[in-house]
Amino acid sequence: MRILVSGAGVAGPVLAYWLTRHGFSVTVVERAPTPRKTGGHAVDLFRPAMNISEKMGVLPRVEERATGTNRMTVHQEGARRPVRVDLSKIFSATSDRHVEIMRDDLSEIYYDAARDDVEYLFGDSITAISPDGGVRFENAAPRRFDLVVGADGLHSTVRRLVFGDESRFSAFIGAHLAVLTLPNVSALDGELLIHVGVGRTAGMYGARHLADARVLFLFRSERELDHHRDVPRQKELLRGAFDDLIPTSRLAVRGLAQGARLISTLPAGPSRALLRLTTKSARLHNSMTVDDYSPSPTASRGRVGLAGDPGGGLGAE
Ligand SMILES: Cc1cc2nc3c(=O)[nH]c(=O)nc-3n(C[C@H](O)[C@H](O)[C@H](O)COP(=O)(O)OP(=O)(O)OC[C@H]3O[C@@H](n4cnc5c(N)ncnc54)[C@H](O)[C@@H]3O)c2cc1C
Repeated sequence: MRILVSGAGVAGPVLAYWLTRHGFSVTVVERAPTPRKTGGHAVDLFRPAMNISEKMGVLPRVEERATGTNRMTVHQEGARRPVRVDLSKIFSATSDRHVEIMRDDLSEIYYDAARDDVEYLFGDSITAISPDGGVRFENAAPRRFDLVVGADGLHSTVRRLVFGDESRFSAFIGAHLAVLTLPNVSALDGELLIHVGVGRTAGMYGARHLADARVLFLFRSERELDHHRDVPRQKELLRGAFDDLIPTSRLAVRGLAQGARLISTLPAGPSRALLRLTTKSARLHNSMTVDDYSPSPTASRGRVGLAGDPGGGLGAE
């Protein structure tokens, strides 16, 4: 039986691993030209994900790549002193098994687990799926599969092609989240810095094995983006929400304000200046709409199913 999985993020490679173990012949098509290596954002794995990683034999690699973040310092706008939190206590109260890892590290580990047994098509995307399993691609020649699974993230193409427009499955709840990569000027080691204001939160953290740091911006917004890939509008929204952060932030000397400063100087559209930022000091690599997500009433239709975020969950694209 030939199965096509769309998306090599987290769900796609895990599904491919288990399907091959059960004797299926699996092809994974991934829009990115190569397995992603940007690091992405940190994700926390608790018992269910740890158990699956253990059964796949990859738990030692997952633990080896742990971010090591175990402390959080929260600065509230207007407050005189920061609050310090021992994150390990919170995590151990939540679950008896936990590790935090960068999403792209996790994706790479799962990809490696079955890469020799799975056919990967990078730099391609499904454009049409017919009820008899006929699949068309942007680049590859048309092929036929017994089953197609959409594991292609929050803005799933498979879900749109088979189940209908994304607007049927998501509703904007008035917030945006963006993650930037910056040089780790504050030499963060095991610490998450958080700045909390009314309707906005900014955070900065590093990871043991990463030379750079991540700055995360979460903020309320009345208007949704017209399109999730509208980068000029993303920058405009970020600027509007955070460009006064520098004078108010007690973290100014510790690097977080560097992210805010970067935002306030982002040019409105693509430009050479942004290109320099992109290649040298910072990448706007992850911006998303926070959706109040309702999974499709059935996660399968005919020969097509959904896994991971497309089938119900919150994630990043
Ligand atoms: C800041 C942040 C923190 C988070 N923290 C946690 C956490 O602590 N714990 C947790 O469990 N989850 C967390 N999440 C959510 C988690 O990242 C997602 O649930 C998870 O990545 C979903 O995996 P996925 O495989 O479904 O989708 P993704 O990881 O989004 O992968 C989808 C893949 O499909 C590819 N793709 C997209 N379109 C196409 C196409 N047309 N054709 C082919 N390929 C395509 C993409 O390039 C990508 O590789 C967090 C998310 C964010 C944004």
